[in-house]
Amino acid sequence: MNPKVIHLIHELRENSKAPICAYIYDLDGIRQQVRSMLNTLPERTSLFYAIKANPDKRIIEALLPLVNGFEVASAGELLKVREVSESVPVLFGGPGKKDYELELAISKDVAYIHVESLLELRKLILLARERTKDVHILLRVNLRTDTLPQTKIQMGGRPSPFGLDEQFIEEAVSILKEAGNTYVHLSGFHFHSLSNNLQADLHADMVQYYLQKVAVWKDKYDLHIQVINAGGGIGVSYDGSSGFDWQRFTALLAQIRTVAGLETTELYFEPGRVVVADHGYYAVEIVDIKRSQGQYFAVVRGGTHHNRLPASWGHNHPFHVVPLESWPYPFPRPEIKQEKVTIVGELCTPKDRLHADAAVERLRVGDVLVFEKSGAYCWTISHHDFLGHPHPEFYYLTGGDHE
Ligand SMILES: *Cc1c(COP(=O)(O)O)cnc(C)c1O
Repeated sequence: MNPKVIHLIHELRENSKAPICAYIYDLDGIRQQVRSMLNTLPERTSLFYAIKANPDKRIIEALLPLVNGFEVASAGELLKVREVSESVPVLFGGPGKKDYELELAISKDVAYIHVESLLELRKLILLARERTKDVHILLRVNLRTDTLPQTKIQMGGRPSPFGLDEQFIEEAVSILKEAGNTYVHLSGFHFHSLSNNLQADLHADMVQYYLQKVAVWKDKYDLHIQVINAGGGIGVSYDGSSGFDWQRFTALLAQIRTVAGLETTELYFEPGRVVVADHGYYAVEIVDIKRSQGQYFAVVRGGTHHNRLPASWGHNHPFHVVPLESWPYPFPRPEIKQEKVTIVGELCTPKDRLHADAAVERLRVGDVLVFEKSGAYCWTISHHDFLGHPHPEFYYLTGGDHE
């Protein structure tokens, strides 16, 4: 457990009697993570951060000097990045882009728009022509499952609203040709076929497969390919099993990069989860411990309205107990020892569960649980105002201190 987080929790207890409920983001940890990822990245390979994993402005600012740019999936996300930097390269993806989003992407000088349908392509050609502005695009392609390497495919490889099926590439190319190949330029392809993949070898196989596919399309349609974006989807282990082996993956990548005809192509990755997950902590105080029909429940100040990931995935989220000594009441402090306990939130719904049947050495009302690995898809995917409880506080660990 991060000692700086434990230190901060003790400080919060000293400064306030209110039950602790906070997100703590270790910005140094995030920067360190990205630096070590960049260290082994082969040449002509770029790292973008998909901000949907955690769009906190402080995180975007912390990453700005390190990453090659950011991936956004809405006008709101695009403006968030542009608030931090007018010029950092941005990739704009997402299904169902509205005209105002395409217009914004053009006016905010997005580096590449990921085009996800033929209609989107036609609209973009029209909008770019009206503005007489050059726009560079990557076609997002949804490959079929039976041709993808065996893995837990979540976003692609089967019928999907994301991207275009391979068979429509030809039509996309002819739409661009009909438009005289002016203003809108096809610079390459984008893929994002899976989520939370923990296997480095499979990930490398998948990237190799993307490259092989693009090499074929390049020749078939006589394309000039500058960029292949291999998406995100690099996994984080939430159950103590070993995580994604980035060193191994990047070593394999260096070999893959020799696919014929694509030696000078830039390869992009746009991960979200792996960049931030391990450096976010959700700290919540135990407000009650009760026994019901033979089972213990610990109720926290907080819950799935702040951290919906465990409910969304139906998993038990890992946590660490931080014992705090203060007990201001004249009656005994509820406590359990060497028991199994289910950790639930303050919402009036049985779905508000963070961890079922956790084995604890000792747990008392007033202790704090720190849910680790809460930096990605936790706060941002949650229904913050359901039941109207106050939002958590946000703290940022930087340069050996916090703010
Ligand atoms: C969500 C998403 C990402 C980031 O995925 P992670 O699993 O967080 O790495 C990247 N690209 C696209 C298109 C996405 O939708």
